[in-house]
Amino acid sequence: MMRRRSFLQVPFLAPLVASVQAQELSGPPIAGLTPKDLRDTFYERRGSGRHEAMDLIAPRGTPVFAVVSGAIRKLFHSKPGGLTIYLFDEQERFCYYYAHLDGYRADLREGARVKTGELIAYVGSTGNADPLAPHLHLAIFELGPEKQWWKGTPLNPFRPVLRAVNRQF
Ligand SMILES: [Zn+2]
Repeated sequence: MMRRRSFLQVPFLAPLVASVQAQELSGPPIAGLTPKDLRDTFYERRGSGRHEAMDLIAPRGTPVFAVVSGAIRKLFHSKPGGLTIYLFDEQERFCYYYAHLDGYRADLREGARVKTGELIAYVGSTGNADPLAPHLHLAIFELGPEKQWWKGTPLNPFRPVLRAVNRQF
């Protein structure tokens, strides 16, 4: 029994560890987070599919930060996401997607370079979020070779966010 379980784990553990290290955040996504605020909601069912993101509950207007240094690749208004930001890291390996924003920083433009911790937006409930429960929906995608901002492999943000928050204490 033990032997069978450990044999099965070997091929799956190695790639998981590698991707967790690579998607590391350089800073937390919103102001005022503590570890107890964080919940892993990546695998929760939402409608017909998996959530594949993390929800960070916070008051409307809470500052939203760049989690890595890189470029604002796209500012986009979608029906489910509301006001959204697609941030690419400098190597363009990952896209960090922020949704339900109340607003962008006034001078924020597509193509702008940003540094970790820079204010980029404010928490809200635009799109399909409950107006009574403002939150940041944060997703991380590993980009494909075409570096398309709307397309990538979703990665669970929970542990990278937890580590970024823990580094502040
Ligand atoms: Zn969400």
